[in-house]
Amino acid sequence: MTAIAADRYRLAPRMRSLEPSPFLAVLQAAREVEARGRKVVYLSMGEPDFATPEHVKQTGIRAIQRGETRYTAMDGTVQLKDAIGRKLLRDNRLTYQRHQITVTAGGTQAIFNVMLATVGPGDEVILPAPFFQPYLSAILLCGATPVILPTREEEGFMPRAKRIAEVVTEKTRWLILNSPSNPAGAVIDRTELAEIAALLRQHPDVLVFSDDIYESIYYGDEPFSNIVNVAPDLADRTLILNGISKAYAMTGWRIGYLAGPEPLVAAVSQVTATSTFTASSIAQAAAVEALDGPQASLVTQNAAYRNRRDLMVDKVNQIPGLHCRTPDGAFYLFINCSQFVGKRTPEGTLISDDLGFVLHLLNHAGLASVQGSAFGMPGFIRIAYAASEETLNEAADRLAAACTALR
Ligand code: PMP
Repeated sequence: MTAIAADRYRLAPRMRSLEPSPFLAVLQAAREVEARGRKVVYLSMGEPDFATPEHVKQTGIRAIQRGETRYTAMDGTVQLKDAIGRKLLRDNRLTYQRHQITVTAGGTQAIFNVMLATVGPGDEVILPAPFFQPYLSAILLCGATPVILPTREEEGFMPRAKRIAEVVTEKTRWLILNSPSNPAGAVIDRTELAEIAALLRQHPDVLVFSDDIYESIYYGDEPFSNIVNVAPDLADRTLILNGISKAYAMTGWRIGYLAGPEPLVAAVSQVTATSTFTASSIAQAAAVEALDGPQASLVTQNAAYRNRRDLMVDKVNQIPGLHCRTPDGAFYLFINCSQFVGKRTPEGTLISDDLGFVLHLLNHAGLASVQGSAFGMPGFIRIAYAASEETLNEAADRLAAACTALR
């Protein structure tokens, strides 16, 4: 938004807290590269490349044909809330009743609605970095203070209890936990979850946001656990976020959900009623089928993602100057590119930061990625390996060529 436009239309003061979307610079540059006639390989989008399962699509179509095209209950249909309850019991060993579950138009909306319902000026939200950017925007739009807590590459980008302890104050309202994480694919193990729980017991007013949206894209040996699994006593102050976007390749259907204590869930439902009234009736019907129907696609997709991860981790770590960890979940690699900061392109342009590196990858090799600073951690890039092996091989070649060109 330019200064002139903002002045002309007198945007609300809260809009000043929003940065322009960090993805815009990359997308804009990608379009320019394409306009010059060059094919761009996109590893920048955080979404599955698989199709929504056929039985789920058909359920959506039948919902339209049956006339399920009206407003639903504001917190979601009874059918979907019950399917979510069954899913939480089956996959997470957790019991939630209808009134402890609310449906939103995507997980991103859930994040925003929770912040709007619970925080304002003077409140602090602990946000481990690197983070999914909408968390930061939501906190800022609500006038609350983000307390960004950088994690460490050598600790697998896992938020550590001992460092959370250093930033908790009496103003802390939320601790955000996202495991497996976007963008680092970091999984918080049970030992660390137990330590975080122990810390939280000393701070009874702090609420916990457990973003489990990548739960099904997980390569660990032990079953996936969130903080409520490890510390059931924290259930009365934890909101679990999940959705169907990643697990069932349904990013466009826009269904997310929250499970947690009734007063929080009810407040969020009120915000949803104000912002969208309800999530789509058709998408909700399809979501019931996704959660209740055959789950075979989860297993085959997980295996495919795992092969792709191994392929890309291997290729990236062979490129001199780059390195990345082997993440335990999600479909991203968070690659350390700091050795290239300070180098020059063949045209003489200085790579002054991670965005400069991302733009070089685009201009030199037609490869779209996202700079780590968009996730609150400069010196890295994120690539999404939710793409075919053919595309990934081509991307790896392009990445290597672009790195070799730097002096
Ligand atoms: N949390 C995280 C960490 C995510 O990466 C995403 C999607 N990129 C979401 C929540 C929300 O996904 P959706 O809005 O598609 O449900």
